[in-house]
Amino acid sequence: MSAGHLDAAVNADKSTGRITELIDQLEDRRSLTREEWTELIRGRNKQAAEYLFERARETRIRHYGHDVYIRGLIEFTNYCRNDCLYCGIRKSNPNAERYRLTPDEILACCEHGYELGFRTFVLQGGEDGWFTDSRLADIVSSIHSRWQDCAVTLSVGERSRESYRILKEAGADRFLLRHETYDHEHYSRLHPPSLSAQERQRCLWDLKDLGYQVGTGFMVGSPFQTPENLADDMLFLEKLDPQMVGIGPFIPHHDTPFADQPAGTLELTLFLLGLIRLLLPKVLLPATTALGTIAPDGRERGILAGANVVMPNLSPAQVREKYLLYDNKLCTGSEAAESLKDLESRMQAIGYRIAVCRGDSLNM
Ligand code: SAM
Repeated sequence: MSAGHLDAAVNADKSTGRITELIDQLEDRRSLTREEWTELIRGRNKQAAEYLFERARETRIRHYGHDVYIRGLIEFTNYCRNDCLYCGIRKSNPNAERYRLTPDEILACCEHGYELGFRTFVLQGGEDGWFTDSRLADIVSSIHSRWQDCAVTLSVGERSRESYRILKEAGADRFLLRHETYDHEHYSRLHPPSLSAQERQRCLWDLKDLGYQVGTGFMVGSPFQTPENLADDMLFLEKLDPQMVGIGPFIPHHDTPFADQPAGTLELTLFLLGLIRLLLPKVLLPATTALGTIAPDGRERGILAGANVVMPNLSPAQVREKYLLYDNKLCTGSEAAESLKDLESRMQAIGYRIAVCRGDSLNM
C-alpha cells in the first residue's frame, strides 16, 4: 500500500470509529444533539452501518423476539383534496383514475383479511370529503364491533381535533400520520401553501392527547432534504415518542412536479431504520412498501436493520393499481395479503416469523 493509500485507510478507520462512538452514545443515552445527529447521518459508511444493524437487531429481538407483525392495508379511496407535490394521487393529477370503496366493500376486505390471519386493519386514503365524520365513524364502529379481537388503524390525513375524538370514540385504536419533514421551510417546498408543518404537527399532538396509539414518519431522500432536516426529524421523534414510525424512500411519480427528482436510497433508509430502533427501542417499525419497491429484498433488509412490521395490501385487486402514490408501487407478490405464505417463507428465510395477533406497540 502506498503512503497515500495508507493515510486514506487510517482516516477511514478514524471516521468509522467516530460514527460507531455516536451509535454507542445513541444506544446508551437514547438521545443525541442536533449536531451529533447530523454528523452521524452525514458521516455514515458501510462498516458503521453493519455495526448499527447488529445493535438494532439485538434491541429489536430483546423486545419483540423474532416476531414480525402484520397489518392488512385497505386503501379505501384515492380521492384527495390536497396537492402534495410528491404524491401521485394529488388532486391536480388528471390522470389518476379515482375510486372510492363503499362501506360494504371495506367490511368485505376486513372479513377476507380476518380469514387470512390479520388482526389489525389499516384504513388508508386520500383526504376525501365524502368520508364525513359520521360515515367514517359508522365504518369504524362496524369493524370494531364485528371483529373485537382486532385493532382499527386510521390513516386519513389532517382533521379537526373534534373529528379525531369522534373517530376514537367509534373504536379507532391507532392513527398513522407522517409528519413528512419537521422543518417548516422544507415542508413548504414539498407541499402547497394551504398545508403547513405546524398544522401537521398539531394533528399529531392532538391524536396523542386523545389516547390514540400514534404513528408518524417521513420520506427518506425527499427533494431538497439535508442531513440537518433528518436530524430535526429525529429530534421530533424523540419529543413525540410515538408508538410507530413509518419511513420509506421518496420515489418519483411521473405525473407530479417531482417526476424528475431522484429517488431516496435503500442504503440511507436502512441506516435511518437502525437509528430509529436505537432511539425508540420499543417502537413499531414497518419495512414499508416503498422499501420493497426500490429493492427486491428491501423488506427483508428492513427487518434485518431493525424493522418489525409489514403491511400487505388487502384492497380489492381491481383498485390496487389505482392507488399509485409513486411509480412502480408494488401490489403483487409478497405485497398482496393473499400471498401471506410467500411473505412467511421470506421471513423464515432470514430467521423471523409472522405473528397472528393485534401486535400492539410496547412503546406505551
Ligand atoms: N392522506 C393521508 C395522509 O396524508 O397521511 C394518507 C395517505 S398518504 C398518500 C400516505 C403517505 O404516502 C404519505 O404520508 C407519504 O409519506 C407517502 N407518499 C406519498 N407520495 C409518495 C412518494 N412519491 N414516495 C414515497 N412515499 C410517498
